[in-house]
Amino acid sequence: MWRAAMAERSRYFSFSFSSVRVLSAVAACVTLIHFSDAIPWTQEKLQHRAITLTQDEIRTALSHTDLDTMWQSYLRPLLITRYPGSEGSRTVQEHIKTTLGSLGAGWEVTEDKFMSQTPYGSRPFTNIIATLNPSAKRRLVLACHHDSKYYPPQWHGVEFLGATDSAVPCAMMLELARALDEELKNQKSSSSKLTLQLIFFDGEEAFFHWSPIDSLYGSRHLAHKMEHTPHPAGATDTNQLHGIDLFVLLDLIGAAEPRFGSYFPNTKAWLSKLQNIEIRLHLMNQLENHPDRVQYFWPEHSLGRVEDDHIPFLKKGVRVVHLIPSPFPSVWHTFDDNEQNLDRSSIQNLNKIVQVFVLEYLNTRPAVPADPSDPPPPSHP
Ligand SMILES: [Zn+2]
Repeated sequence: MWRAAMAERSRYFSFSFSSVRVLSAVAACVTLIHFSDAIPWTQEKLQHRAITLTQDEIRTALSHTDLDTMWQSYLRPLLITRYPGSEGSRTVQEHIKTTLGSLGAGWEVTEDKFMSQTPYGSRPFTNIIATLNPSAKRRLVLACHHDSKYYPPQWHGVEFLGATDSAVPCAMMLELARALDEELKNQKSSSSKLTLQLIFFDGEEAFFHWSPIDSLYGSRHLAHKMEHTPHPAGATDTNQLHGIDLFVLLDLIGAAEPRFGSYFPNTKAWLSKLQNIEIRLHLMNQLENHPDRVQYFWPEHSLGRVEDDHIPFLKKGVRVVHLIPSPFPSVWHTFDDNEQNLDRSSIQNLNKIVQVFVLEYLNTRPAVPADPSDPPPPSHP
């Protein structure tokens, strides 16, 4: 489209100078209109620009997040045995739905329920999908898995709680929704074509041995379903996967000093954005136990891919940021992956970094309260 318009312009050079100027201006306008029309909405994600919040805006945005609230209200209820189909799984699903339903932003919460064959027979699975503004075409997705790994009865009496795997990531997403409730409510009412979607997958873990058919039950099912669900409603050539701007998967978070490398070159810039936020918050003294030598985000450090819930989406062309530390926490898939072995500072620091990332990606500026030292506005009788 751009090249064709330029060729069209070159034909007018035999006219007088003023005609050329007028026609060039017209051609330029036409070109601009055509150029903007030429970008299908599904490509807008490739040109998306995040904003950079001011320090005052960051302080305002982060004034609501509270680690103790997250711990008591969101994390503790998740620290139970919760493999697919278990009573604990039902309890955890209710916990997630109730929490999101209690917020002022008005999340649309849907479930993707299905049965699947496993090494232990047919089992029920439930993914939970929360969308801030369902009418927005484009979605920034944050995702985690709410199931815990199943350990068979010979382990009776010892419970695998999967604190980092992935109770903490789920609790972080609930805390983000709570802490940024006001900002997200305002973002939703701004009728932006971009919104936030939270996905809580079931059945990430293998029941027996990790294999293509014994793992990623929930994400395989949802990726397939989204691929076959027209989006926006009634569309004939676009589906819900086209609506995903960026799929940010959080997993194995909660150990001290995590390091997140780059798994995918096409989203490295967003990992750099996270690194940039980490540095800005560090310089603002917003991060605890985060001396100069500590750095969580390593965009220049390329890593081989790790099998996780992003794979079914990645295979269908979705752009992914995989926030899983390398190396994995030392307690990974052991009975020591529990509350006692979590590192509060890194969780709180990552809460702050991810919350700022979401606001900047969504181009949402929090309303900074007026400086109390400013004179009050004149009062009228
Ligand atoms: Zn696991």
